[in-house]
Parts: sequence; C-alpha cells; structure tokens
Amino acid sequence: MTANEGFPWPDGKRAAAAITVDFDAESAMLFENPASVDYLNLMSLQWYGPRVGIFRILRVLEGRGVRGTFFVPGFTVDRWTDAVRRVHAEGHELGHHGYLHEPLYDLDERTEEEYLTRGLEAFAKAGLPAPRGFRAPKFRLTFKTPALLARHGFRYDSSLMDSDHPYALAVGPPAPAATIIELPVHWPLDDWAYYAFAPGFTPLSTIQRPESVLAAWVEELDAIADVGGCFVLTIHPFLSGRPARIRAVDRLIAHIQAREDIWLTTLGEIADHTASLELDPVVNVAPVHPYPDRLETARPATFT
Ligand SMILES: [Zn+2]
Repeated sequence: MTANEGFPWPDGKRAAAAITVDFDAESAMLFENPASVDYLNLMSLQWYGPRVGIFRILRVLEGRGVRGTFFVPGFTVDRWTDAVRRVHAEGHELGHHGYLHEPLYDLDERTEEEYLTRGLEAFAKAGLPAPRGFRAPKFRLTFKTPALLARHGFRYDSSLMDSDHPYALAVGPPAPAATIIELPVHWPLDDWAYYAFAPGFTPLSTIQRPESVLAAWVEELDAIADVGGCFVLTIHPFLSGRPARIRAVDRLIAHIQAREDIWLTTLGEIADHTASLELDPVVNVAPVHPYPDRLETARPATFT
C-alpha cells in the first residue's frame, strides 16, 4: 500500500479526476494521410464521433451530473460547429487541440504558432470563448511549446507524462517568471490505446473488450488515488461513443463518484487550484546528446 504523497487537494479530498474528451472527428486522419479525404469509409469511421458518439458522451455526463473538458481541433469547430456549441451550452469546458490535429514535432516556431492561432480563430469565429487549456495532438509537443502557450494566454497544458500530480511548469530555461500549469496524462488512460483500429491507418492490434478496459481504468484510478494523484481520462467520441464502450465510461464515472474522496471536475478547475498553490516550477532542459554525429544524421522522429 502506498501513502498519499501529500498533494493538497481542496475540501479534504484525497485525489482528483477529470473526464477529458478529444473531439478529433476526421481531423487527425486528414492530417496524417491527406488522401483519406477521398475515402468515404475512413471518413465515416471518424464521423461516428460528431454524428453519434459526442451526443452519447454528453448524455452520460448529464446523467451523472459531471462536467468534462473537451479538446477540439479548430477544423472540428469549423465543420461540426453545432455539435461543439452544444458541448459548450451544456456547461463543459472547451480546450485547444490544434487546427487539423497537427503533432508539433519537427516544426519551426512560426509554423507551430500558425497552427495555434488558426485554432484560436476557429473558436472566435464560432462565437465560442477562447480556450484556456491546450492538449497537443497525439500528446506531441516540443520544448518550445510551453512558452508559446504562455504567450497566447493559456493557463495550462495537458500532454506530458512525467508526474502523477499537476505541477507548475516554467516556460523555458532559465526559469522565468512565467509558468503554465501541467496536468499530466498517460497512455493507459487513453481509449486510443485499446480501441483504435483502422486498417491502413493505425497499426493493427487486438481490439479490447470494454469490460477489460473498464477493469484497467478502475485499477489505475484506485492506485492513482492512493498516491493522491490526478486521474486524467482521455476518450474519443468515435471510439468510446459506441454503445458497449460508453457503458464502460458510465460505470467508471459511477465508480469515481462512489469514492467520495475524489474531486471529479474539469481540468480548468484543477489548473486553477494548482496555480493557487504557488508551487516551485519544474524547469525542463533538453538533454545534451552524447553522440552529436548520430544527432546530425538523425531523421525526424516518426511514430505510428
Ligand atoms: Zn486528438
């Protein structure tokens, strides 16, 4: 048994949890594989999100009286405006998730900023509030990204994986006055890792049963709560919006709510609480590569 590691949550709570929804629709597929714009089957796989899954997620959150945080690419805001407005109208938080779901690796700073501002413009055009939170598409950001977020007025990021607890993140070495809040994520808490299956687009793996995914999430949640951490679930409408899978989400929320020692809320509220603690910021410094020759010949990192 591990002990609560002492992160001070409000109202005597032992830990925190947030339900986050990455409302990608077809954006990721169009960016990764532009030819998919002509493939109706692939588009239909993604359109399940804005046509069906998003509303099923909203009904579950409403039924449980929970507010979630929805990270929305600008392209989704432009194309599925009514669905995004509905998410906002039902009281949930909207966050930034790129314009066309662009991972931020291997970009110059100007291009990275263009993606960010294009996403912000989509929210403004739809009459939606400017997001205070950011999640990098595919959780891929660079050492440059935190400073860019601070410059554009963002309060927090939720893409890094180096802690069980929220923390203050300095926007670059040397430690400056400016910080943002980091609300860390982890792959086992992302439904993508269990359900994503699109021949020709994703690596093919075994599709997991919702029952076993729920068991994994409950196991993760209880252990994170034991160390007083923050459980950040990430789901996608086109994945977890399916009938059997949404039941797993609903049962997970019921499990969280049955534990009265967990503060279940939006990432924005967790970020505000963390900021109020005035923690010493973490400064991220890129390692100096010990084999410079290898670095010079390295190709841009590619992942699937
Ligand atoms: Zn995404």
